[in-house]
Formats: sequence, C-alpha cells, structure tokens
Amino acid sequence: TPAGLRAVLDRHVSGMAASQASFRTFYSEELRRAIAAGALVNHYQPTVSLTTGAVVGVESLVRWNHPERGLVYPDEFVPLAEQSGLIDELTQAVLRTALDDARRWFDAGYALQIAVNVSMDNLVALDFPEMVMEELAASGVPPERLVLEVTESRLMQNSVVVLDILARLRLRRITLSIDDFGTGHSSLVQLRDLPFNELKIDRGFVHGACEDEGLRAIVEANQRLARSLGLRTVAEGVETRAEWELLRSCGCDFAQGWFVSSPMPGHELPEWFEDWEIRRPRLLEPLAEAV
Ligand code: C2E
Ligand code: MG
Ligand code: MG
Ligand code: MG
Repeated sequence: TPAGLRAVLDRHVSGMAASQASFRTFYSEELRRAIAAGALVNHYQPTVSLTTGAVVGVESLVRWNHPERGLVYPDEFVPLAEQSGLIDELTQAVLRTALDDARRWFDAGYALQIAVNVSMDNLVALDFPEMVMEELAASGVPPERLVLEVTESRLMQNSVVVLDILARLRLRRITLSIDDFGTGHSSLVQLRDLPFNELKIDRGFVHGACEDEGLRAIVEANQRLARSLGLRTVAEGVETRAEWELLRSCGCDFAQGWFVSSPMPGHELPEWFEDWEIRRPRLLEPLAEAV
C-alpha cells in the first residue's frame, strides 16, 4: 500500500539522516583534533603583477594532512568547520601559520603581501579584529602586509555586525578582498558601501574567456566595475598564456593561476621565485609580438 511504502521510506530516510549526523559528528571530532594537533598545512599560491610580472603576494590555501586519506582539500572540510563551530579555531590556526611563514619570507628579503581566506562566519564574531591584531603583533607582520579574502557568494548576508567588523579591520590598514567575484549576488550599492580594496574575478569567468565572448564580456565588465569603484583587481584561474595576455589587455592588475603557479608547500617558494625570475621577462614582451 502507499501508506506501507511511505513508512518504509520514512524509516529509510531517517536512518540515512542519523548515519549522516553521526558521520558528521565523528568527522568533526577528528577535525577538531587535527586543528589542535597542527595537522592542517598551508599551501601558498603566488599572485603576480600583470604589468611588471613582479610577485606581489601569496595566498594561503589550507589542506588537511590526513593520516589515511592524504591531503584533503578545503572544499571538503571548511564547510564542516563552519557547521560544527570549528571555524574560529581553523581560521586562527591558518592565520598564525601564514603570518609565521610570511615573517620568515620578509626576513629573507621578499616583500610580499600575505592573503588569508576567511569565512563569513568569522565576520560575526565581535572580537575577530582583536584576534587578527593579536596574531599580527605576535608575528611582527605589519597590518598592511595582510590581505583577508571573503567569498562574494555569502556577502549578501551582510549585517550591521559584518559591516562593523570589516570597517574595523580596514581602519587597522588590513587589505580586504572580495573573492570569487561574480558568483554571488552583491548589489552595486553593497559593493560601493563595503570597505573593500580588492576584487578577485572568479576563475569561472577567466578560464575559457579567450574562446567564449560571453565570458570575456563578463571579465571586462567586472574589470571596469572594479576600476570605477577604486578597487584593484586580481584574475583567478589564469591557466594559459592566451588568458594571461587577455587579462593584461583588459587592464587587470594581478594574476593568479596555474599558468603562473599552482599552490605549493611554503618551503618550495624560494626555488619557485628563482624560476619565475627566468620566465618573467618573456611574459612582458609587447602584446603584438607575444600573441
Ligand atoms: P579560493 O580562495 O577562490 O582559492 C582558489 C582555488 O582555486 C584554490 O582551490 C586553488 O588551488 C584553485 N586554483 C588556483 N589556480 C587555479 C587554476 O588556474 N585553475 C583551477 N582550476 N583552479 C585553480 P583550493 O585550494 O581547493 O581552495 C578552495 C577554496 O577553499 C578556496 O577558494 C577558499 O574559498 C577556500 N579556502 C581555502 N583555504 C581556506 C582557509 O584557510 N579558510 C577558509 N575559510 N577557506 C579556505
Ligand atoms: Mg581566496
Ligand atoms: Mg577565489
Ligand atoms: Mg575561486
């Protein structure tokens, strides 16, 4: 009967929900221990100037060095951290490691900005700016060297508290960046009113923009929008020489992507810098010759 079938289905669905819930509890406990034990590692992806080729900074991208599963990527465990109340600990752990690493690179003579991804959930904790300032002070990294990236898709949820926290970070001369721009629904009014300095054009528009006129139009429109709001721009996901040239000709400021470098463990950066200095001059030839 339909009623009997319904009962079977209900039991099945509630059983699934229960096992998912216990899986999540198990997994979030494991994540909590991993954060405490320092099992999260930061990889770093360089950002370079499209006009000079100079390396302007590196972005920290967290990985979980899992004993059985190897490197686990953030799309899998950052949402879990958000759902299970671990995101403040996660962000603080990533920030501390990133600042310690950055401090060593500064001491070795690399003048970089260090970018750290933060969750919207971090921007509702009233003491978040103090936490960031304490970590900066402990590491000796000046605030103008730090960039905090916030994904655009969740900015719509902004409240008075979020605005207040962003403004306090900005007043401390921390750079604020809108990540994955174009994937959310921020209104132009919000964009104008939020205290951001930088806009990152989502890689979903950048990669493929050479073959697709629609994508190219979106990239150009984002570039013009950012410029008119006084924001600097970073193109994410630049994978080919043709995309590099396209973004240069659009007037975009900086590029990030596999064409420049994949994310790497921090200890590989010095060698990457040397290789980049060799590649860099060729990438700055006049556009007509290069294409
Ligand atoms: P995101 O901040 O937009 O970072 C860019 C993502 O694109 C990274 O993935 C990077 O490895 C990847 N990528 C870079 N260049 C290319 C390219 O040329 N082509 C393609 N196809 N991909 C490229 P990843 O490391 O898996 O990180 C995914 C997202 O996880 C990040 O996106 C960021 O939103 C989030 N995330 C990473 N680390 C943290 C963190 O410490 N805290 C928080 N809250 N989120 C983080
Ligand atoms: Mg980012
Ligand atoms: Mg991004
Ligand atoms: Mg992205």
